[in-house]
Amino acid sequence: MPELPEVETVRRGLAPVMEGQRIALARVNRPDLRWPFPERMAERLTGARVERLRRRSKYILADLDTGETLLIHLGMSGRMLVSGDALGRFVHDHPAPEKHDHVVFDMADGARVTFNDPRRFGAMDLMGTETAETHPLLAALGPEPLGNAFSESHLVAALKGRNMPVKSALLDQKIVAGLGNIYVCEALFRAGIHPGRRVSRISEKRLAALVPVIRQVLAEAIEAGGSSLRDFRQADGELGYFQHSFDVYGREGQSCRTPGCTNTVHRIVQSGRSSFYCPGCQR
Ligand SMILES: [Zn+2]
Repeated sequence: MPELPEVETVRRGLAPVMEGQRIALARVNRPDLRWPFPERMAERLTGARVERLRRRSKYILADLDTGETLLIHLGMSGRMLVSGDALGRFVHDHPAPEKHDHVVFDMADGARVTFNDPRRFGAMDLMGTETAETHPLLAALGPEPLGNAFSESHLVAALKGRNMPVKSALLDQKIVAGLGNIYVCEALFRAGIHPGRRVSRISEKRLAALVPVIRQVLAEAIEAGGSSLRDFRQADGELGYFQHSFDVYGREGQSCRTPGCTNTVHRIVQSGRSSFYCPGCQR
């Protein structure tokens, strides 16, 4: 499942082919993904120019010159493919249409953007740009983890009086937007905090220290995604999935990477999801 760094990598990969470009033809090949598409979506997108491509949490938002904003959510298995000849540079041949190509944008300059989603947990919606922040998927979101509003004082205040495990708190999208299982596990490892520790039993100083650690973990992953973008023209045109090495995530039974630590990485299940941690380094 794509997390914030993967979505940001998709956004950065799409920006050069979509920003400032007109959608010459939008094709919508089925009535719905996770939810029905908005009415007349293809007609409302065809001819529109993409003014800006931005990200909020794990959603990509395309502000159009029609006064509307297109929301794109990759869901569990959504993939974005770029093909064709864009900006005078050959990118990739248009692939043969596939079964799960649900939405296709032919950009005015010849590039094609294809949204493929076998499991259809993804979503697209259209809303007025002026009122985008009130969309049901966006309205309750907390601050962006890489933005200024996600400060040490914000996190300490948001967790004050709470008694939930710290991992659940960081996955709460109202406290901080866009964090998922992988990067919460990695951030807690770096901060030396056990994922099951109750928020009320962690000092304010240690809670505050999570903020720079979360930013660092995400920034490193986005950097890894950036390297994958530099290579993607030689690959198959698929954006957003890249090789990234984790300290604890997916490493159950393997040696802890902290120098001098002789423990192995453990896995526990919290709220139905795997948490990976080192029992020696995380308290
Ligand atoms: Zn360790």
